[in-house]
Amino acid sequence: MSEPMRVQFWGAVGTVTGSRTIVEVDDRRVLVDCGLFQGYKQLRLRNRAPFPVPPSSIDAVVLTHAHLDHTGYLPALVRDGFHGPVFCTPGTAELLGLLLPDSGYLLEEEARFAQRKNYSKHEKPTPLYTVADAERALESLVPRPFDTEIDLSAGHGRADLTARFVAAGHILGAAQARLTHLGRTVHFSGDLGRDDDALMRAPTALEPAELVIAESTYGDRLHPDANPEDELGEVVARVTKRGGVVIIPAFAVGRAQALLLHLARLRRRGAIGAVPIFLNSPMAVDATALYRAHPEEHRIDERDYAEMYELATMVSSVDDSKLLNLRGGPMIIISASGMLTGGRVLHHIAAYGDDPRNAILLTGYQAPGTRGGTLAAGADELRIFGRDMPIRAEVVQLQSMSAHADADGIMRWLAPATTAGSRIVLNHGEPGSADALRLRIERELGATAIVAEQGQQFDV
Ligand SMILES: [Zn+2]
Repeated sequence: MSEPMRVQFWGAVGTVTGSRTIVEVDDRRVLVDCGLFQGYKQLRLRNRAPFPVPPSSIDAVVLTHAHLDHTGYLPALVRDGFHGPVFCTPGTAELLGLLLPDSGYLLEEEARFAQRKNYSKHEKPTPLYTVADAERALESLVPRPFDTEIDLSAGHGRADLTARFVAAGHILGAAQARLTHLGRTVHFSGDLGRDDDALMRAPTALEPAELVIAESTYGDRLHPDANPEDELGEVVARVTKRGGVVIIPAFAVGRAQALLLHLARLRRRGAIGAVPIFLNSPMAVDATALYRAHPEEHRIDERDYAEMYELATMVSSVDDSKLLNLRGGPMIIISASGMLTGGRVLHHIAAYGDDPRNAILLTGYQAPGTRGGTLAAGADELRIFGRDMPIRAEVVQLQSMSAHADADGIMRWLAPATTAGSRIVLNHGEPGSADALRLRIERELGATAIVAEQGQQFDV
């Protein structure tokens, strides 16, 4: 019998960020996702720790999707010696062209800020990586379409280790990844989308695999039955009627497009008035164009696009962004970042957050430790630009707009794994979510699931 595949977890363990899993077969080593740790400071500090294996010893990287918690460490990996191919879908490659340089820019900003504030008195603070590192990492990307076989053995003279992407329905380009060696397969769910998403098509059904690695972000929660469009419309109508500003922090990729789509439809059916809508995220505008180029992955048609582009005023310059802070309500501002970790949205919150007529509308998962997580937990002040700012605006969290499958969704997707007798390992979830899902799998599917631990190894 040949050697097994050894699957080892080095991130997204007990948390939803820093996805990094190493798959080894004899002398070959593949990294599945290369994520940044985000959120609590102790998590972010892990980005500074040496990578668990020397980057130069990794033969190839496979990326499930473009979100930084799955890709944001790649520029550091390449700079530190990784020189193999990075396989991903075309949509992921295109989005990374926007996301990685932006990430490098934000990290450089953060280092400059730390230096100005003299946080670090003895050493010059250095960014985790720079825009130039990110640009270099992009050169390693090797786009491969969904549902085709990818040879991961190049350079080793054997063609017995392959990968295949299947649609995950989470954001543009998002994939589940199957790694197969001599007829045995380990299947990564990646971030799993929803069956009923307004934007993306449903995830592809799970095929038999010896080992299934499932995300568990919402493992302990169900999305409310409420229609996200109605919920969004209700808040927008209420706040704008009283002259307020609705600030919607949104990821530039996925969430911004879903919001524009819902708002366009709400306006079409007269559910919200003709209040001005501003999309203050140049990256979101670029990402919307990328979605338009891949109609096979989502449910937006040309009529929707036309209305989405007409609906909002696109804000690109910093000056125009600042002018929005003087304009006053009623209006809607969609701006990044989605969890308030940085970006232009912070300026809008600093300008409008202390007025109870206004509202901050959280539409996605808010990781604990981020400002978004703090707001979602009910805080009445936020630390922004080194100051504690009072938050008197209404804070609303729309659970119904998540781009992740909820616990029922994951269970439905996982069901075929039990008939196939797969082993199930859970990652990418806070401890409570992962364990709740483990229990449901045991009770409802009669199968055993293991919640992955840091450094834990599974042989396939
Ligand atoms: Zn994601």
